[in-house]
Amino acid sequence: MTYQAFLIKYGEIGIKGKNRYLFEDALVRQIKYALKDVEGSFHVRKSQGRIYIDWNGYYDYEDAISALKCVFGIVGICPVVQVEQKGFEELKKDVVAYMDAAYPDKNITFKVESRRQKKTYPKNSMEINRDLGEAILEAFPEIRVDVHHPDVLLNVEVRDEVYLYSEVIPGPGGMPVGTNGKAMLLLSGGIDSPVAGYMISKRGVGLEATYFHAPPYTSERAKQKVVDLAKLVAKYSGPITLNIVNFTDIQLYIYDECPHDELTIIMRRYMMRIAEHFAKESGCLGLITGESIGQVASQTMQSLMATNDVCTIPVYRPLIGFDKQEIVEISEKINTYETSIQPYEDCCTIFVAKHPVTKPNVNVIRRSEEKLTEKIDELVKTAIETTERIVIE
Ligand code: ATP
Ligand code: MG
Repeated sequence: MTYQAFLIKYGEIGIKGKNRYLFEDALVRQIKYALKDVEGSFHVRKSQGRIYIDWNGYYDYEDAISALKCVFGIVGICPVVQVEQKGFEELKKDVVAYMDAAYPDKNITFKVESRRQKKTYPKNSMEINRDLGEAILEAFPEIRVDVHHPDVLLNVEVRDEVYLYSEVIPGPGGMPVGTNGKAMLLLSGGIDSPVAGYMISKRGVGLEATYFHAPPYTSERAKQKVVDLAKLVAKYSGPITLNIVNFTDIQLYIYDECPHDELTIIMRRYMMRIAEHFAKESGCLGLITGESIGQVASQTMQSLMATNDVCTIPVYRPLIGFDKQEIVEISEKINTYETSIQPYEDCCTIFVAKHPVTKPNVNVIRRSEEKLTEKIDELVKTAIETTERIVIE
């Protein structure tokens, strides 16, 4: 089948009036960005409350579809066959030819749904539906009409040209990135945090990310894994600025000064503080983590409370009520799973205690942190100043 355009379907609830305009413009922008590296010369346009993509000459269909499947806000992608308006008899032939090419097996049910752009067209929509339906029934004896649950809903849009489409390839849904500010993702090399970033970005939120590594305890390869994960998430969220913080000296200092069963919690509190610093600096409106209640000792309700205690901006934890298996399913769907399970060390696991507290008391933790007074401000300052920053496209 040769297509001449894609019709982009998007959810319209809650985007009436002025918001609708912003939503559509953001969607057009994100579509252009997604198609930037796909072979073909694409043109994205808004027309009568719809978004169309067309192209000149050769284009890579498969790549274009995979790129569009990553654009939040798109609910469906419909490949369109465009035919010239040469009178109704010609249109019948074109529609029959379309059905023949698109559905080699005619043991199906169908329904025609037409729309006229100009009310001056000689037939109204009901008549177009009926007459085209009849032409299809005449051409293919096996085919049947089902107006309630058709296998194939053939859309016919009569404009200066006629658009035919019946296939709807599902998009990711959500809201176009850029319609809802941006947030700072604490990105580790695990399964959870890339999924958490994906989920918040799906609601239209742009992402920045912060990764804490502890060389030489964590390797260059562990860092590369996080860069690779950021690239995979960026396919959906758009460019991500990744802050790579050298956390070694802070971790060693905590290790030397604080009770070992509180290490993880205290480290997590410093991660949140530093991530929040970068978040505020770059206008992020919240932090995002991959935490889920009860998953590990550092994610009990008490631990989450102790971690949250140092944050002054909202912390979004989209996986909070998810079981591991549910998170794994999303990570497989968004293609981060294979990278996440590569076996490279994480800074948290290296300094972890044998028996970490599962019910930390915030006041006890605060008091333990007082043991760090002498050097911690200086160490945090240095960590911030020496942070490496890379932009992931
Ligand atoms: P993940 O699979 O996302 O690594 P996890 O199950 O390993 O999560 P933890 O190690 O307790 O859980 O981390 C909880 C959250 O804290 C992570 O989801 C992530 O948002 C953040 N985090 C943990 N380690 C790091 C790190 N080294 N750099 C940045 N963020 C981190
Ligand atoms: Mg982890």
